[in-house]
Amino acid sequence: MKIVAIGGIMHESNTFSDTPTDFAAFSHTSGDALFEGWGETHHEMGGFIQGAAQHGYTTHPTLMASATPAGRVTDDAFDRLTDTLIQQLKAAPKYEGLLLALHGAMVVESYPDGDGEVLRRLRTEFGNELPIVVTLDHHANVSEQMVANSTALVIYKTNPHIDQRQRGLQAGKLMMQILQDGVNPTQALAKPPMLLNILYQNTSTPPMNALLTAARQLEEHPDVLVANVAAGYPYADVYEAGPSVVVVTNDNPQLAQNEADRLSEMLWNIRGQLTLDLPDAAQAVKQAISLVGEISNPDSSQQSPVILVEMGDNIGGGSPGDSTIILAELMRQKASGFVVVLYDAEGVQRCIQAGVGGEVSLHVGGKSDNRHGTPVPIHGNVRLIHDGRFIETEPRHGGQRYHNQGLTTVVAVGDSLVVLTSRRQTPFSLQQLYSLGIDATAMQMIVVKAAIAYRAAYEPIAGQIIEVDTPGLTAVNPLHFTYRDVRRPLFPLD
Ligand SMILES: [Zn+2]
Repeated sequence: MKIVAIGGIMHESNTFSDTPTDFAAFSHTSGDALFEGWGETHHEMGGFIQGAAQHGYTTHPTLMASATPAGRVTDDAFDRLTDTLIQQLKAAPKYEGLLLALHGAMVVESYPDGDGEVLRRLRTEFGNELPIVVTLDHHANVSEQMVANSTALVIYKTNPHIDQRQRGLQAGKLMMQILQDGVNPTQALAKPPMLLNILYQNTSTPPMNALLTAARQLEEHPDVLVANVAAGYPYADVYEAGPSVVVVTNDNPQLAQNEADRLSEMLWNIRGQLTLDLPDAAQAVKQAISLVGEISNPDSSQQSPVILVEMGDNIGGGSPGDSTIILAELMRQKASGFVVVLYDAEGVQRCIQAGVGGEVSLHVGGKSDNRHGTPVPIHGNVRLIHDGRFIETEPRHGGQRYHNQGLTTVVAVGDSLVVLTSRRQTPFSLQQLYSLGIDATAMQMIVVKAAIAYRAAYEPIAGQIIEVDTPGLTAVNPLHFTYRDVRRPLFPLD
């Protein structure tokens, strides 16, 4: 049976963060463990495996490594992971192509374009003839180096990312067309001179839905193999930061460039719609309390829970997950019936000492740095101690099935709940709460530390959503940051 190798190294690096992403931060699997961990998931890796099988190929698993978004990847971690990938490819049985999952916004201490450097090393090692089809996250900051060193790029078309398995399947199918049908991909990149604010990166609402519709329509052209629009990741201060269009055609470079330029122009033309007018924490909590008051009126059409989106502490964008900006305001305005999840390993240990039912007085959150508020005093009873593992079987952002937020405790504070975790956990699955016995639908307010990605999980249960402009490593307004390495001029900085 013919073989295609599969592997991946994935990280989204927030260059404004002082928390480096070292080797220990990565979870990595190889061999059969890769099939077990990723085969049944909604991740592109699951799509690679299924896609190859559909076309009569078998997949050979190499390294799959990923880490929660945080600061730059250390050189040590990058070298070790890349070397492992290369060694495993060298040791693999004879294979005809490589399906590789990268993120596209990985920044390494010595390599601002980390993903491009992975591909450059693979080309140096295995030559230009090996077909390498690469999937990238919708938040990729695509570089010329990535385009030059890959056979084809296939980028998620959704945010929240719920099409990852589909993109893996698409990459698998394209690989088979290359290997069996003599298809010859040529790709072109175009980038408008702009950053696209994270608030406008929802692909199911304007303005981005029109861009993705145009990309899907373009894929119906007989010579177009893949049409990609990436929103980019504005929290990486690198030359390539910002949205990208990559069009892959069958041996038609002019068509690829023309169409990439056309979609890039469409992106550039949406800039007038990108206004920012969100409430701060005090205004948002006041509004949430008033909404909850209305909900208690039986004649009201309003529904709970009210979701307070803490944009400045977007864990999936590299923030620490322990911001107390909204919690402090909830306490100050005497809100009730809310749930907030904080990364606070020290608080978890204090709760374990007190035991289930024990009374605790704690200062929670605000411990990672000085950008996300200060520790907030709470007093309550430990309701639950949990190992922090949960399973998500539905297609949710990130496509993962097995999650581990580390030892976790739930503290009841009046009729509100403060959840403390020992690991940073992105809020992309309601199982994060359900596994702790918390009925999310019955809460009056839920604080969610995210930007857009949480919507796949929370939109179906949300009564109201209030996006809140809070400070932090993922503050919604890019003017909060000092950019040095992006290309200039760049909208909206200039
Ligand atoms: Zn993403």
